[in-house]
Amino acid sequence: MLHDRGEDGVYGIMGTRIHDVLEAIVNGEADAAQLLPALDDELENLRVLNLDFPKDFKGGTAIRDNWIADMRHFCLNFTAPKGKFITEELILFELDEDHYFHGYVDLIKQNSDGSISIFDWKTSTNFNAHDLLHHGRQLVAYALAKQKQGFAVKHIGWIMLKYVEVVYMGRARKNSKADTEIRKVINRGKLISELRSEIEAKLYGAGMDELEIECLMAEARKANSLDPLPQEVRRQFSIRPYLRYYDLTPEIMDETLNHIWRMIGEFEGRSENESDWLPRAFINESGKEDTFYCNVLCNFRHSCPHIARHNDLRSLIGKSDDELF
Ligand code: SF4
Repeated sequence: MLHDRGEDGVYGIMGTRIHDVLEAIVNGEADAAQLLPALDDELENLRVLNLDFPKDFKGGTAIRDNWIADMRHFCLNFTAPKGKFITEELILFELDEDHYFHGYVDLIKQNSDGSISIFDWKTSTNFNAHDLLHHGRQLVAYALAKQKQGFAVKHIGWIMLKYVEVVYMGRARKNSKADTEIRKVINRGKLISELRSEIEAKLYGAGMDELEIECLMAEARKANSLDPLPQEVRRQFSIRPYLRYYDLTPEIMDETLNHIWRMIGEFEGRSENESDWLPRAFINESGKEDTFYCNVLCNFRHSCPHIARHNDLRSLIGKSDDELF
């Protein structure tokens, strides 16, 4: 409302650039070969701006390394979706004459039966079951807006860019008697390491000996790809982008509308004085301390007095009286 966008963080900067190139590709204004240079460019910009990914719990760079490995694989393997699409469509959903929901839809697919499907590109980590309701509301609100315009919405979902869905025949458990179809969602950067035992089993099945398998696995790991493997093994794995659909039920639509009205009530009930406003809760739904959003993602993380106070208090825990006074 104050038109203050704050300052972008690492994920905001990287996500925006990838979104922009994807939009251009879908609109026929760029091609997939531009994704990797855009990723590298933006990583260089982060370096110049002295912005970095959060450190892992040991103080190392695993979070950065894994994010880059996932996204590098995505950039190298992306193929534009087929069909008719509209990108970045402005949504103005009239709730009542004084209240509008405003947003931009990443991708709307126009299906051959006249219906539409609504998708959001995500460069974030896959959502867990706890967070699904919270993340889903954005898509549901887009769907409600398009339904109000008279469109039938067939699907809503996220295209989770850091992941692939792999389908193959295998033993679901060690003691399973027969092969069944198995679907796995895997971080792109860990494609080969996550499928190691399955690939090795198929290489054995193709008559390779241990030494041959070891060499092929080393090459596959280095390339993070099935490409170095024999075709008869490669074709036993189907690797596709991970499209996570979200059920658009009447209950979920009601929940989203109720939530939007609850939030409106909360905003409108606040005093004019910002310092009276309550901060975001620093605990998650499992009751654990969770400041990831505030410390890493929020554009106001360096100016917000609430998270500063919380971090200051946190840093005092465990200090001796001598250190404190
Ligand atoms: S409480 Fe957290 S989410 Fe709210 S402004 Fe402060 S840092 Fe951002």
